[in-house]
Amino acid sequence: MITVDRYEIRSIVTGHIRLDGGAMFGVVPKVLWAPKTDVDDANRILLATRTLIAVDRSAKRVILVDTGAGTKWTPEKAQRYAIRHDGEAIDSALSGMGMNREAVTDVVVTHLHFDHNGGLTDWTNGPNGPAAPRYPNARHWIHKRHWAHAHNPTTKDRGSFIPADYACLEEAGVLQFVEGDAPPDPWPGVAWFISHGHTPYQILPVFGEGSQKLMFVGDVIPTSIHLPLAWVMAYDVEPLVTIAEKRRILEDCRRDGLKLALPHDPQVAGVTVGGTADRPAITARLDLA
Ligand SMILES: [Zn+2]
Repeated sequence: MITVDRYEIRSIVTGHIRLDGGAMFGVVPKVLWAPKTDVDDANRILLATRTLIAVDRSAKRVILVDTGAGTKWTPEKAQRYAIRHDGEAIDSALSGMGMNREAVTDVVVTHLHFDHNGGLTDWTNGPNGPAAPRYPNARHWIHKRHWAHAHNPTTKDRGSFIPADYACLEEAGVLQFVEGDAPPDPWPGVAWFISHGHTPYQILPVFGEGSQKLMFVGDVIPTSIHLPLAWVMAYDVEPLVTIAEKRRILEDCRRDGLKLALPHDPQVAGVTVGGTADRPAITARLDLA
């Protein structure tokens, strides 16, 4: 756990998935990425799904950032992506802090790709539904234009969206839309970084101010291996935009000591980064357990 501003922040591994290594590294050849990661005989690399838990005890605010792949998987799909989701991981972490699921006040939905937010909902009556929100007391923050995109994705990215993960949130009245290109801060000590390269209007929270900031960097930098500028995913809808966004983030790391919490690294929850944007180097790993 680290403390940033008024927030106690932890990173929880909710499970693991395997995605095609070539898709995860775009134009980078396998001879470069394979030695750095765990590749299986189907060319899939091991990824964690991580949730950030940020607690402001004085305001009784409990924030989850993303919720993992969830439990609503058919055996066929679970096998395709080697999905192993621990349905109890977030509950046990909350319980270790003297809290429970009902105490979650806010869920930040960075974006609606199934590996980030299948865990927003559960089946209530066995497989295929209906689905219900897993955090019924929480406001669910999502950018209005990402919500629109998820309902009308491109041919390239439609496989990443599963309506059962989020359709019932609207009916349940728990959505809190973030709007515009410079949205106001959601809470004291938290600002939004809006990203478009991976998917339109991904919202990434930045906790703290000045030289004490931590950003959940989402799928702009999914693992510590993805720090170099050109190491961007083939999944991205606009890879050159991802590179420009990554440059801004890495410059903030160098200039202001911005710390990064990573969404998919199996071993590394977060890092501090030195060097330059063109040659970034990890200077320390963060203890976010
Ligand atoms: Zn994604």
